[in-house]
Amino acid sequence: MTVILPLTNSCIKLRLKEPVTTTTTPELPRDLSSPDQELKRAPLIRVLLLKNVATFNIAADTPFTIYSIKNKFTYNGNGKLTTHNTTSSDIKPIEESLKEYDSIVSSVVELTDSHILLGNERFERDAIKIVPSDGEIKINETNYSGDIMIIPQLNDKFLVIEETYVENFLSGVVSSEVPMSWAEDTILAQTVTARTFTLYQKKRHDTEAYHIRKLDLAYKGKSNESAIAVEAVKKSEGIIMVYDQQIFPGYFHSTCGGHTEDAGLVFKKKSIPPLAGVPCGYCEDSKYYRWSREINKNEIVKKLYKSTGNSNSLISLKPIDIGPGGHAGSIKIHTSKKEHEMNANVFRLQIGPKKLLSTAFTISNNGKKVKINGRGWGHGVGLCQFGSQKMGTLGFKWENILKHYYPGIDLIKAY
Ligand SMILES: [Zn+2]
Repeated sequence: MTVILPLTNSCIKLRLKEPVTTTTTPELPRDLSSPDQELKRAPLIRVLLLKNVATFNIAADTPFTIYSIKNKFTYNGNGKLTTHNTTSSDIKPIEESLKEYDSIVSSVVELTDSHILLGNERFERDAIKIVPSDGEIKINETNYSGDIMIIPQLNDKFLVIEETYVENFLSGVVSSEVPMSWAEDTILAQTVTARTFTLYQKKRHDTEAYHIRKLDLAYKGKSNESAIAVEAVKKSEGIIMVYDQQIFPGYFHSTCGGHTEDAGLVFKKKSIPPLAGVPCGYCEDSKYYRWSREINKNEIVKKLYKSTGNSNSLISLKPIDIGPGGHAGSIKIHTSKKEHEMNANVFRLQIGPKKLLSTAFTISNNGKKVKINGRGWGHGVGLCQFGSQKMGTLGFKWENILKHYYPGIDLIKAY
């Protein structure tokens, strides 16, 4: 049975927890002020936790308040949920406290035609926000310390978003992105990289309901958080990379295989010098440096069918448009009836990123199978994590690790 216990006569602290404060900040090579006023606001980030779910579980052993957040988000003409622009309409966002609770045992959240059901409590079918006074809210077995927003979608399913401070989010990300046994400077370099990536996404998606998806980075909320990562985030608070005074997407990946790749080739976007690819020279120890796989041709046809609609038997595959890091821009797919090309990164994700570790590979025909010999793991753009670990153990400082992988950058303290 699910039970929510209402709280009576309680004075709960309703604010979000303060962001971590800096105790010591590494000295920056250049003391530039942030050129971008947008980045100066100690930023909150909205992280997509769940989308298109009919139900999910929630639990909390901490007091919390539920707010109605009417009109905070609206669907635009394309059905995209955006933050409400108060200048374009008379409709004002309303945030009102609905009820306070002292805890909630594991309960199912679901949607009816007129209500959001939260265990045995019901709320009008509007966006609601759950604000913990302290402690954490558990969503489907993962703990989060930020505010949780539950938003009914147009298709009768939910979006679940955590709103929290970027620095808090980064502690969770860094804890899961690299082993905490790695060199301190490697972990610091990873932290600055992840912060740059995150703040770029926030800037890019500022008017949307969420800025970043939980799965874009290895974020597991508070559930996997390490004190080492918390310390690295504190030490580097607010520090980001810029190029030509602009923040850019600080891409990173596991292992480049010898040379990082040009973002222009992989993501078909404008290339800039920090993301154009550099010789790495430090990731030979990674077990993903070289790999090989055999994959059934039938399996490849099946996995590609959804996007190609082509069920003809596969004759051969050929990586083409090879970039400076050896990664393919496209894959030529030759079947019994036609030949077509596909974006190599999309091809990799459809085959399965754990099967086809990267797009830097050669292919040989093995009858019913293809044999793939590859290099590295991930898209190959930006910092190579295994290479950065080698650099850290060799005594390189975090600033120098970043300048190796992202040539031409400046480091600034945005806030
Ligand atoms: Zn590398």
